Amino acid sequence: MMELSPINLPGVDNKRPLVIAGPCSAETEEQVLTTAKELAAKGIKIFRAGIWKPRTKPGGFEGVGSEGLPWLKRVKEETGMYTATEVATERHVFEALKHGVDILWIGARTSANPFAVQEIANALKGVDIPVLIKNPVNPDLELWIGAVERIYNAGIHHLGVIHRGFSSYDKKLYRNLPQWHIPIELRRRLPNLPIICDPSHIGGKRELIAPLSQQAMDLGFDGLIIESHCNPDCAWSDKDQQVTPDVLDYILNMLVIRETTQTTENLTELRKQIDELDEQLLELLSKRMRISREIGQYKKEHDMPVLQTVRYDEILNKRVSQAVELDMSDDFMKSVLEAIHEESVRQQIVIMNK
Ligand code: PEP
Ligand code: MN
Repeated sequence: MMELSPINLPGVDNKRPLVIAGPCSAETEEQVLTTAKELAAKGIKIFRAGIWKPRTKPGGFEGVGSEGLPWLKRVKEETGMYTATEVATERHVFEALKHGVDILWIGARTSANPFAVQEIANALKGVDIPVLIKNPVNPDLELWIGAVERIYNAGIHHLGVIHRGFSSYDKKLYRNLPQWHIPIELRRRLPNLPIICDPSHIGGKRELIAPLSQQAMDLGFDGLIIESHCNPDCAWSDKDQQVTPDVLDYILNMLVIRETTQTTENLTELRKQIDELDEQLLELLSKRMRISREIGQYKKEHDMPVLQTVRYDEILNKRVSQAVELDMSDDFMKSVLEAIHEESVRQQIVIMNK
């Protein structure tokens, strides 16, 4: 069991949401200081800026590197804000610590790599600094928890995680699919670990920052990390998902923060109904599996392969459009059907091999 300490920063309110804001990348000293001052004027207390940028392809802006660290120091001195940056190697850790960065975060590409996380953990031994761990790019909760454990085992107990969504092959609405069930399950597994949502990287678009932030608050997340730039349209990286400090302030003011400690008594009746419906769902699923096993028996007797892709395609398309008519998202229905189909196939394979 991890004994986590809260991320208490003197001068920063303990109430939700804890807000971290700043540009995707530190670009120039002027851009960093202008943005920081505008944010500080809006009451933001923690400033983020990427110094080393992991890029999907070479040739993009890879960050200004250590040259930008004194700029963050100036932000501290001139605004009183805490500063945060991403570290991916031992050298990044040493450089950031040397220049007095207050909070470190581990990026999504790094947390997917246990060697890199361990290297960072080793570099952090004996250091007392809050560390935030972004979810790995792939939707693997154990890998995420593993990264948290590696940093914890290095003696860092001021820990938090950042939910920034998960890569997917077909991008639609979101840049990175939120897959909310993953951070929710993380909350169940490690209830004391603060969860911060990164709506900029999930949505990839300015318009999605507000609704995603609200959703994160409604799910009881502790904080938000939002990319904010003095001139977003001219940002050197991630320009579509950054907002000006003014817009950020507007978004934060519009958030409705619902207390998490309300009594749940009035929900008893509704919860009973949910329990009953879940039971019915289970019964229906088990009935469906029984029929699927009968089909498996038939396929076996007639030497047919288990997987009939045309039929599966038909089911998928039809049900997904029905679901949309019923106000459910197509992604949701696709995942449900895929899970059911996978179990069906598994059960038929058992019959085939009997
Ligand atoms: C970032 O925060 O700018 C960043 C690179 O994020 P991620 O690691 O989530 O892609
Ligand atoms: Mn970014």
